Amino acid sequence: MKFVDLHLHSHFSDGTYKPAELAAHAQRCRLAAIALTDHDSVEGCEETARECATAGVEFIAGAELTAEQDENELHLLGYLIDILNPTLLTRIARCQVVRQDRIREMVARLNRLKVPLTAEAVFALANCRAPGRPHVARALVKARLCSSLDEAFERFLKRNRPAWVPKLKMSAEEAIDLIHQAGGVAVLAHPGLNRTDKVIPGLVEASLDGLECFHTKHSTVTSEHYLELADRYHLLVTGGSDCHGLSKGKPLIGTVRVPYQHVERLMARAAEIKATAQTRATR
Ligand code: AMP
Ligand code: ZN
Ligand code: FE
Ligand code: FE
Repeated sequence: MKFVDLHLHSHFSDGTYKPAELAAHAQRCRLAAIALTDHDSVEGCEETARECATAGVEFIAGAELTAEQDENELHLLGYLIDILNPTLLTRIARCQVVRQDRIREMVARLNRLKVPLTAEAVFALANCRAPGRPHVARALVKARLCSSLDEAFERFLKRNRPAWVPKLKMSAEEAIDLIHQAGGVAVLAHPGLNRTDKVIPGLVEASLDGLECFHTKHSTVTSEHYLELADRYHLLVTGGSDCHGLSKGKPLIGTVRVPYQHVERLMARAAEIKATAQTRATR
């Protein structure tokens, strides 16, 4: 049986692995395919595709877009997207500017709390266009202003903590449309973490294609619950580890895996989406 891990981050967002390391881990875990799903970025896809080709692992281009619906932050996974799609790239570039401005605002708040971190230190450490709170946390630890990442989140960065800054986000509907016009399949990431099933009917209305039923932070009961919802709304099923690098000394990649048949279904849906986009364009 062939298995795949469809949720991975690299150093092109807040993961720590390089594409070559992801490909090597995928090969070691005998994964037939992996998808790269960096936050608001597709920058790592080209290199990861190359490394996967060398490692004999199939590569699926993806991204995890930050969106919102009814004041809930949602993450929408786009799979099999065209990573050169100009509309997608323009919109993602705007998200990245928002993320960079947010880092400056978080640092300003820390400075007001007499925590002497600089935005430059965070940007230097992040070394990517889509910086986020994990980079601020790592910079705080590196500067010995916090003793651990957990402490950084608990004291400063968690929602409603003093250095937390809300993100300006696109609507979930916009994110789904953006993924579709780039030829991709739109999947709601880790619905069990949002605990907001009431948003799902609206997303289905907005042409959501799938639910990430299997995820590191989903219990068996939670996964079963979302499998039932996927069935009820005729949605595709995906799953992945959401690996960001080492977690408690171990890489998560490969610890959540789904059968390859789910990739085949994603491909069939992507073909339909691309055909619809083409008919629209030629009409
Ligand atoms: P951001 O996109 O900047 O809001 O950062 C979100 C990322 O921060 C998530 O993808 C997680 O990887 C990480 N994160 C969120 N909350 C915590 C927490 N309490 N402890 C550690 N990491 C967290
Ligand atoms: Zn992340
Ligand atoms: Fe997420
Ligand atoms: Fe993720």
